[in-house]
Parts: sequence; C-alpha cells; structure tokens
Amino acid sequence: MQLYNKLSAKERAELIEKAGKDRLTLSFYQYAKIENPHTFRDQLFIAWDALDVLGRIYVAHEGINAQLSLPADRFNAFKTHLDSISFLKDIRLNIAVEQDNMSFLKLKVKVRDKIVADGLNDNTFDVTNKGRHVDAVQFNELIEDENTILVDMRNHYESEIGHFKNARRPDVDTFRESLPIIENDLKAHKDDKKLVMYCTGGIRCEKASAYFKHKGFKNVFQLEGGIIEYTRQVNESKIENNFLGKNFVFDERRSERITDDVIACCHQCGEPADTHENCANDACHLLFIQCEKCKAEMDGCCSTTCKEIHSLPYEEQKALRKGQGNSNDIFKKGRADHLPYKKDLRNIFETLNTDSIKG
Ligand SMILES: [Zn+2]
Ligand SMILES: [Zn+2]
Repeated sequence: MQLYNKLSAKERAELIEKAGKDRLTLSFYQYAKIENPHTFRDQLFIAWDALDVLGRIYVAHEGINAQLSLPADRFNAFKTHLDSISFLKDIRLNIAVEQDNMSFLKLKVKVRDKIVADGLNDNTFDVTNKGRHVDAVQFNELIEDENTILVDMRNHYESEIGHFKNARRPDVDTFRESLPIIENDLKAHKDDKKLVMYCTGGIRCEKASAYFKHKGFKNVFQLEGGIIEYTRQVNESKIENNFLGKNFVFDERRSERITDDVIACCHQCGEPADTHENCANDACHLLFIQCEKCKAEMDGCCSTTCKEIHSLPYEEQKALRKGQGNSNDIFKKGRADHLPYKKDLRNIFETLNTDSIKG
C-alpha cells in the first residue's frame, strides 16, 4: 500500500478537470489525546485517499487540524468515516465560503509535534480551560461594548487584506510570536476589559484563549469557528456583517472574498489591491500584494532583479539557484524592504491600543 501521493499537482489538476465533478473545500480541528499519531496518520491516509480527499492535514499527540477538499458526492461517506472516530463524531466542519475545485492538489497527512505551532510548553497551563465560545450574534454584541478589546490572532499578511472593524492586529509573522506581544500590550486590563479574539477557523483561539486565561485575563471570549463560521451565520441569518475585505486561507485559493471592501494596497504602486501573489521568480517566491497593472508590468515579479532572473531560460535560472537554500516557504515571508507600500501594521496596532483603551 502506497501511503503517499502518486500524482504531481499538474497531473492532479488535469484529473480534477476531466472528472468535471464539484468538489467541496472544508476544514476542521479537534484537540484530543492521540496515543499513536503515526498509526492514526496511516489510517486516515488510506481511508481518505480512497475517497479522493486532497488537502493538508496535521496530526499530533494533541489532536488533528485538517484543511481539505473532496468530491461533493463523497461527502456522506466522508462524514460516516469521521463519525466512526470517537473524538471526531459530530465535529463542526467549516465549509469554505468560496468554493474552488483546485483548492488542494495533493493529500498530505503529516505527523507534527503540535497541530498549531505555538511555541508553548503545554505543562505550564491547562489547554482545556479556554475562553467562552461566542456565535456571530454574541460576537456582534460584544464588539459594540466599550469595555471590549478585540484582537485578531492571525499574522500580518492575513489581517492586511481583511479583518473585523476596530480589531487590534499585531504585526507578527507567526502565532507563536503574537502571544507574549498581546499579553504585554494588554496587561493593565486583565480585570476590567473583555478580551475578545478571532482567527480564520477558530483553532488558534482555542490555544490563545487558554493562554490568556492562564496569564490572568478574567474575561476571555473567542469567536467559535472563526471568520469562516461567522460568515456562514451572517449569510444564513442575515445579521450585520462586521468583517471587512477578504479572509486569507492556506490553500490554492489564497483568500475568500467576504465583502467588496478593498482595504489593502499594492505593495509596488500603492493603488488599492488585495490579491496576494508569489513572486514568479522561483528562487524568490515572496508572498506580496500586487495589482493587475503591476503584475503585467513586472511579469508577476516582486522586483526588477527578480524580473530579470525570471526572463532567463529555465536552465540558466536553475544554474543561478544551485547551492542556494530552498526559499519556497512562502508563508514565512511576505515582507521585503524593497516593497515601498507594505503597510506598517505595528503603528496601526499601537495607535488603536491607546485610542480605544482610553475609551
Ligand atoms: Zn500596483
Ligand atoms: Zn521576487
């Protein structure tokens, strides 16, 4: 039995195209004690490969974090399989707001130390002592409250293209980095303010809320199911939508449009834009925001240097890359000094802090 991908992304894309069937993109997570993550990983791969599931799934002793797509007509079989696993029975599935058959092109089930890289020593606090879950209606009420501090638990390149009105957005590259920064920033308000947090699908807030409670914050709330579930509830129940712009997602779609507001700008010319691109120079691959005009002018590259390299014959590009490390880890980047219009979110964060905490 082969427990890895047999097809390249390109071959997979062609197959999906040919099948002509609608696929469903969804995500879920669960904290649970998994004794043997390697065995569990293999079982999932076999069962899900047979159902034509594609996606990125992390398994650890602490649980599972899954983002995936599957043929819509296999959904019931998939759900039956989930229900056969004790800690995944009746789990809430976050269904993508914008569907795209090509959201994932491989099935990767990986064993990790953690399902979210938090850099925390689990023995120091109780992860099950988490904040209060709130739905969209309760969340809307909470953020109207002048005693609320609303914090975006995502990274700078995520909140840059979309976020809730009046949210603090720490200028961080990683979740791990954000925890001590936020704690330090808000430490004077552990008793008197309501700390309300949100992230993409809710998983980061599960950890963060437990962390902040452990650090002495008395009133901690988290948006259940994150922006994805909030949007679903807003659309279904026709309630007020306080989110602006796009929801950044970690698959081929890059983002889901939630509202028509374009709140970011092209990192090259400063015009309104909110589409992330990876620099077309494979040796760079920087994640940045680029408008259509700059994309055409720069051949999808982030700098003139990259444009020159990208225009070379493939063999020459390869020769230039020889001996250089793999820089394709796109989500660790998203910052570069040569991009004049990358907004400095750190300043926004500080200004908001002083303003609204006074209020
Ligand atoms: Zn531009
Ligand atoms: Zn580049």
